[in-house]
Amino acid sequence: MKNLLLTYSLLFSSVLLTSCASTLVEQSDNAQTCSSGIVQITTDFSTARMDECSLVAKNEYLITLVPENTPINSSPWYAFKIQADQPTDITITMKVRGDEHRYPPKVSVNGGAWQLQKHKIKGKRLIMNISASPEPIIIAAQEVINNQYYVDWINKISASPQVSQNILGQSVQGRPIYKIESRSKSSNEWVVILGRQHPPEITGALALFPFVETLLSNSELSKSYLSKYNILVIPNINPDGVHAGNWRHNANGLDLNRDWNKFSQIETKQINQYLEKLTEQGQEIKFAIDFHSTRHDVFYSMPVDYGVEKPYLVQHWLEALDRQMPNFNVEIKPGNNPDLGVSKQYFADKFGVHAITYEMGDNTDRHDIIRIAHKAANTLMTTMLSNTDHNKE
Ligand SMILES: [Zn+2]
Repeated sequence: MKNLLLTYSLLFSSVLLTSCASTLVEQSDNAQTCSSGIVQITTDFSTARMDECSLVAKNEYLITLVPENTPINSSPWYAFKIQADQPTDITITMKVRGDEHRYPPKVSVNGGAWQLQKHKIKGKRLIMNISASPEPIIIAAQEVINNQYYVDWINKISASPQVSQNILGQSVQGRPIYKIESRSKSSNEWVVILGRQHPPEITGALALFPFVETLLSNSELSKSYLSKYNILVIPNINPDGVHAGNWRHNANGLDLNRDWNKFSQIETKQINQYLEKLTEQGQEIKFAIDFHSTRHDVFYSMPVDYGVEKPYLVQHWLEALDRQMPNFNVEIKPGNNPDLGVSKQYFADKFGVHAITYEMGDNTDRHDIIRIAHKAANTLMTTMLSNTDHNKE
C-alpha cells in the first residue's frame, strides 16, 4: 500500500495546476477554526470546508464531514488550511457523517503544486500524520479550483482576438456566471461546453481547460473548425457551490444537473434562456459537452437511434479517439433518461442534436486527463469537419 501511495504521489507531483495562494481572495462563509493555541486548522478561504473539528487529545484532531443537505450523491468534499506557530507533528482523523470517504487527500504547500497526502484508511476513518509549521499547507479532497481560478483562466483564454468573455447571468447568491465565446462571421452553428455543475468534480474541470484550449488554439485544424462552428463555453455553472465547498448542490440545496427539464434554478434557467435567445436569432445548437467526474472515465451519450441529427457523430468521434489512444479505453455509455433533467438529454430533446457527459475518473492520472482532452478535442474537430455521412456507421 505504501508503495502504491508513493507512486501515486509521484504521478501527482508535477501537476501543472497553478497556485491558489494568491487567488484565495473570497472568504469562506462557514469559516471556522480548530485551534490548540500553537496549531490552527482553518477554513477562511473560498472552497474550504471541514464542517466539524475538535481537539480530541494533545495534537490530535477529529474532523467530521457533513454534506450541505440530504439526500445527496456521495462526494464528501473537504479543504482546510493548517499552520503552526512552531513545527508540530499532529494527527488528523477524518470521518464522514453517515458516509465513507471518496477522495484521497491532496496537499499543497503554500498554495503550490498538489501532491497526494500520505494517509491510512481504517474502517471509515481516514488518518493523516502531518508536520505543521509556520508555512501554511492546504489539505483538500481534490486540487482546489476556486471561482477566481476561472476568472484568471477566462482572462487568459479571451486574450485571443476571436474569443470574447461576458457575464451570462448570476447564481442564487449573486455570483457571476461567465461565458466565453468564439464567433464566426460565416457560421450560425454552435457547440456548447459546460462545466462544474458539481463542485467536487475537479477532474472534469481539469479536462475542460485543455479541451477548450485545444479548440481555441491557433492550429490549422482549429482555424478551420472555428470558421465553421461558434463555441460557447460556460465553465463554472455553480459558483456558489464551488465557493461553499458543497458536495454537489447549488445554494438552494438542489442538483443543477437534475434541473434541465424544470429550470427551477436561476443558474440553469439563465443558460436555457440564453440558448433560446440564440436560436431565436437564427443560431443553431449543433452539439454539447458537459464535463463531470465520477469513479472512472466514461462518456455518457445519447443512443444512435434516439432520432437526433447526425446519429453516428459521437460514435465516430469516440471511435477515432479510441484508435488514437491505444492505452486509453474509451468507454461509451449511451442512455436515455427523459425525466432525469440532465443537460445531455436537454440538448437532445430541445435541439435535436447529440450531447455527451464527459466524465473523468476521480483518480485518473492528471497528465492523462490533459492528453485525453487534447486528443478528444482534436478528434472532435476532425470528425465534425469531415464530410463523412454521419447517417452511416
Ligand atoms: Zn457530475
